[in-house]
Amino acid sequence: MTTYREFHRRSIEDKEGFWAEQARLVHWEKPPGKVLDYGRPPFARWFVGGETNLCYNALDRHLGARGNQKALVYISTETGEERSLSYRELHLEVQRAAAMMRSLGVGKGDRVVVYMPMIPEAAFVILACARIGAIHSVVFGGFAAASLAARIDDARPKLMVTADGGSRMGKVVLYKALVDEALALAKHPPSKIVLYNRGFDRAVRMTPGRDLDYAELRAKHLDAVVPCTWLESNEPSYILYTSGTTGRPKGVQRDVGGYAVALAASMKHIYCGGAGETMFTTSDIGWVVGHSYIIYAPLIAGMTTVLYEGVPVRPDAGIWWKIVQDHSVNVMFSAPTAIRVLKKHDPAFLRKYDLGSLKHLFLAGEPLDEPTHAWIADALGKPVIDHYWQTETGWPILTSVPGVEKTPIKLGSPSFPAYGYDLKLLREADAAEAAAGEKAVVAIAPPLPPGCMSTVWGDDERFVKTYFGTFRNKQVYSTFDWGIRDADGYYFILGRTDDVINVAGHRLGTREIEEAVSMHSNIAECAVVGVADSLKGQMPLAFAVAKDTTRLNSAEGRKALEREVMETVDKQLGAIARPKSVHFVSLLPKTRSGKTLRRSIQALAEGRDPGDLTTIEDPAALEQIRSALKTSTEP
Ligand code: AMP
Repeated sequence: MTTYREFHRRSIEDKEGFWAEQARLVHWEKPPGKVLDYGRPPFARWFVGGETNLCYNALDRHLGARGNQKALVYISTETGEERSLSYRELHLEVQRAAAMMRSLGVGKGDRVVVYMPMIPEAAFVILACARIGAIHSVVFGGFAAASLAARIDDARPKLMVTADGGSRMGKVVLYKALVDEALALAKHPPSKIVLYNRGFDRAVRMTPGRDLDYAELRAKHLDAVVPCTWLESNEPSYILYTSGTTGRPKGVQRDVGGYAVALAASMKHIYCGGAGETMFTTSDIGWVVGHSYIIYAPLIAGMTTVLYEGVPVRPDAGIWWKIVQDHSVNVMFSAPTAIRVLKKHDPAFLRKYDLGSLKHLFLAGEPLDEPTHAWIADALGKPVIDHYWQTETGWPILTSVPGVEKTPIKLGSPSFPAYGYDLKLLREADAAEAAAGEKAVVAIAPPLPPGCMSTVWGDDERFVKTYFGTFRNKQVYSTFDWGIRDADGYYFILGRTDDVINVAGHRLGTREIEEAVSMHSNIAECAVVGVADSLKGQMPLAFAVAKDTTRLNSAEGRKALEREVMETVDKQLGAIARPKSVHFVSLLPKTRSGKTLRRSIQALAEGRDPGDLTTIEDPAALEQIRSALKTSTEP
């Protein structure tokens, strides 16, 4: 039996041999000629010359052995709907969606923006794109019109697929007016929109010649047979936008073959999910976890995947565990915030159901605090694996690898580097490797393993500059996270090195939120920082300078302006980015060169020492922050 350590060592020392072996886990229509081409660092090309298709691996490959097995189970506690599709049925629906898109002129390389709630049709469309070689770009349904428009303009899609609405906590959220607004804002809107009507919006307005009804189109393609388009391993499969330091989101571009292999390997070695078993990932299709572990990976592994629309506490805090029992879930994947929400409820909800089928619960997306880790591991009586990764990597960077060796879990730690990742902890000052117990930047020595982003969509230079430009003398990939390794080799993640914050597992750039706040006509400038929050991990907090201060003279006036600013953020980015509060000040603390001292503001907001202030231009600015915070915490 191999140990984790040997497995990891081989993946680094004999990359080509290691990944050639993993590549056998997927179907290749044409086998790759070369496992790795690293002739143009830091761009890594995996399985060069190989031809495959993600949809073929997810569906067609299983039709013989498991055509009648459930592929997708849809459960909506929002609408009460429950539906399951076998591999054969899912294959049919995906071909209908593929035929529908082809009839609208969508082909290989064309972009399709998917702005949909958690419904099976979203999965049909995503898989259909993969089938015909179209590049999907799923935008999270919670994003506002301006964010959607920015993503449309970057991806320049031929088609957008949407629905009339989503639902959260029983409240319908209508999409179409927002979609229309985004299309009006966009400079490069798609020429066709396909809308799946759930019957939420009886007055849904369809623009003739542009907007088409999903059900009507589907009816025209019931018997469609659409073969898979074989793609060279390095052609793009999808774009997924994520936040960074600047206000402009980055289009993370993923390949085909490397992604298929990375996901298949992760199901075997990390998630221990086998064909015929069931996986329940509670994320949203709009996030990378949804792409990888609701849709592609479980299907590639021949599993049944659960697509859940709803929250963890409705109808009660036992709903997820009921799903585990009723559908014999073997592998579950969720996020720390959800567990912190559940922790507020009676643990009896966990004991009410038979969780015998469940092997592991995996958590990711944000730091998992020790008390929450201990609580859920104890309540479940199963291994709870914290693992760490990013939209950019598509699969875990730090994790326990129980399919290879069941290493002991340390609370608060996402364990060790996953195979394939040559992880380094580098000192910020000189890029030298840090000693055990020393806080440093979590970096990956290139080439990045299969499955990781291949570039920033349409901007190779931005990919190199952003991710490989942290250290002057060393071309390494920066995760923009601080980390530390203890004497036993366990890693701990200590937060971001950049201006990115993590609200309930959703990654947001403070600059993005600042830009949104500044869209209010009475805001001259602002600073947004992330502050610790016991439930969501972090929350944005805004400090703003008003142009016209008359309204700030009364408490009501201040409240009203704060509300307006929050609504502006809702409208620009979506409610997930709404600041916890907005404080008004007459100036912001800045360095003499004009840089806002966000870290000092954040320290004050979290009750810590503001740090080195020798470069501050006007210390009175920090005093204002202090007193604004003090007033807001007074009863
Ligand atoms: P995203 O790309 O939205 O998934 O966000 C990735 C970021 O979330 C990482 O860079 C980390 O800052 C944070 N993150 C993800 N997983 C973990 C984890 N297990 N522990 C601590 N932070 C995490």
